[in-house]
Amino acid sequence: MNFKISLEKSPIGYTVINKDKNFLYANPSFCTFVGHSLKTLNSKTFSDITYPADIEKGSRDFERLIRGEITEYRLQKRYIHKSGEVIWGDLFVSLIQDDGETNGFTVLTSIIDITERKRSSKALEDHEAFMSHAEEIARMGSWEWDIVKNVTRWSENLYQLFKVSPENTKVSFEYFLSKVHPDDRYMITEGYDQLVQQKRKMVLEHRILLPDNEIMWIQNSIKPFFENGKMVGLRGVNLDITKRKRTEAELIKSKEKAEESDRLKTAFLQNISHEIRTPMNGILGFMQFLQEPNITSDERKEYIDIVNQSGARLMNTVNDIIKISKIESGINEINITDVNTEEVLLYNFNFFKALAEKKGLNLMLSEKSLSGATAIIQTDNTKLEGILSNLINNAIKYTKEGSIEIGNYREGNNLVFFVKDSGIGIPKDRINSIFDRFIQVDDQLARTYEGVGLGLSIAKAHIDILGGNIWVDSIIGNGSTFFFSIPYVPVKLEHIPKETPLDKIPKNTTVLLAEDDRISFLYCSKLLQKQGITVIHAKDGASAIDKFKENKSVSLVLMDLNMPIMDGLVATRQIRSFNSNIPIIAQTGLGFREDKVKAFEAGCTDYISKPIDSAKLILMIKKHLHK
Ligand code: ADP
Repeated sequence: MNFKISLEKSPIGYTVINKDKNFLYANPSFCTFVGHSLKTLNSKTFSDITYPADIEKGSRDFERLIRGEITEYRLQKRYIHKSGEVIWGDLFVSLIQDDGETNGFTVLTSIIDITERKRSSKALEDHEAFMSHAEEIARMGSWEWDIVKNVTRWSENLYQLFKVSPENTKVSFEYFLSKVHPDDRYMITEGYDQLVQQKRKMVLEHRILLPDNEIMWIQNSIKPFFENGKMVGLRGVNLDITKRKRTEAELIKSKEKAEESDRLKTAFLQNISHEIRTPMNGILGFMQFLQEPNITSDERKEYIDIVNQSGARLMNTVNDIIKISKIESGINEINITDVNTEEVLLYNFNFFKALAEKKGLNLMLSEKSLSGATAIIQTDNTKLEGILSNLINNAIKYTKEGSIEIGNYREGNNLVFFVKDSGIGIPKDRINSIFDRFIQVDDQLARTYEGVGLGLSIAKAHIDILGGNIWVDSIIGNGSTFFFSIPYVPVKLEHIPKETPLDKIPKNTTVLLAEDDRISFLYCSKLLQKQGITVIHAKDGASAIDKFKENKSVSLVLMDLNMPIMDGLVATRQIRSFNSNIPIIAQTGLGFREDKVKAFEAGCTDYISKPIDSAKLILMIKKHLHK
């Protein structure tokens, strides 16, 4: 009985059950633990108050116990309290054999309430899982270094961030340092010294070497911890800030780019005004000198030369501005026709020969260049000529003595043109930027050479449109060779025209020149008269029709499209209504494609853009008179 009394008073729960799991006895501690009276328990089995998922938990051991295979076992399991709450018990189950009774087994179980312990360890597990999840979401990992024991511990996420497995990695301070980018290691060692001295939290931003040479930026927040005022360890959090660093780097880059382009635009504007003012001063100043009564004929010639050169320089600048504006606004259509590259090279060679000779330079045309039928390809003639003349112009401009060679050769599916000079060359560090807009190697305002720094960027944009590439080989002081490639698209042989332009303009050729602008008329009529052509002038479209009807001798019409009273398009249509043969060459404004299309629609035979290139116009007139 003493035994029973002590059970009644025990703070530990006790139960006695039979082999059918019915409660025979439960002490008050157990009754309080599960919230049932002894009377209620007497009508239940222990399965009735066990948490369903744990019912099976000890049943194998229980069977073995009552079969006499074991005498005791331990188990932790959950019960359901009368209130419905889940509670945890730590059980020690043992067999008591009643004397005299054959099957008189009873089972004595002591139960300790471990609900609180379980709850706090569950809370801890939950907390750890939460922290780990939070670390994963924030892309961060944490670590601890016990300096006294020299033990380092990393959170699971830190291994993940460093892309190493916890199983194969032995972490230590040295291991961490080996993962820091070599250029950033000083931060860690210097930072450690500071931590020891200042005993404060510290935040470092440095790079980590990941496998496969990948680089991760981390923000490493480190805090020391102390025992009796002595630093005994460090704890830290590493935050992956690679994305932020990348964005920062991009922002810095675009800021620098914006500043650079601002600087370039200012330089460009200064250049442009310089490139407009200088020739304008030349023209206006020397025109005044020309009006003075007592000038000698040598002086007159010299002044006229200066006016001419200044005019050409001004025209170059205006042309460059127009071209770059067209490129900027994306109205740069491509106009593919059959182009004889031999003729293009020859034309440029003849055009620049005199200019080169004037500077004492020898301009040569490579004999290896493509000739005959193989030289005829499909491309944009105007663009090709523009690119080539730009490069030759530069070669002459940037060469003081020696020679310039131009030519082309085939390379696979490309036709490569080259312009080789023995000029000043280009410094290595500037070679890549000369194709950028507004860039000049010598970007001082007081630069030695004229130009706005747009030529090469225009050439590059046009070559891009043609589907080619531009590049340069250069040695400073020795010269440069500019190369550009365009696709080699040969023309089918039957398409190659047999005819060649006339050598001479036939005698008694009369051209009707429809032009309202006086200066343009004077220029053009002089040009034509020099070739022995008779010129009839019409100041507008309506008078062009009248004069054409009156003069049966007219063999070609040069029609300005932009005229008062009746424009050139209407006039052309009307002439075509009664004459379908007469060649009509349209003079188009700034060389816009729409003007050309409209001109052909109205019935024009050909077009030439203003400002008129004299050699081109004469060649065109010869071609159409021949037909
Ligand atoms: P620009 O000639 O109007 O200055 P470009 O765009 O044609 O502009 O050329 C850009 C820069 O490239 C020039 O200012 C010059 O410094 C350099 N450059 C171009 N062609 C040559 C060349 N043949 N030899 C040496 N430098 C050249």
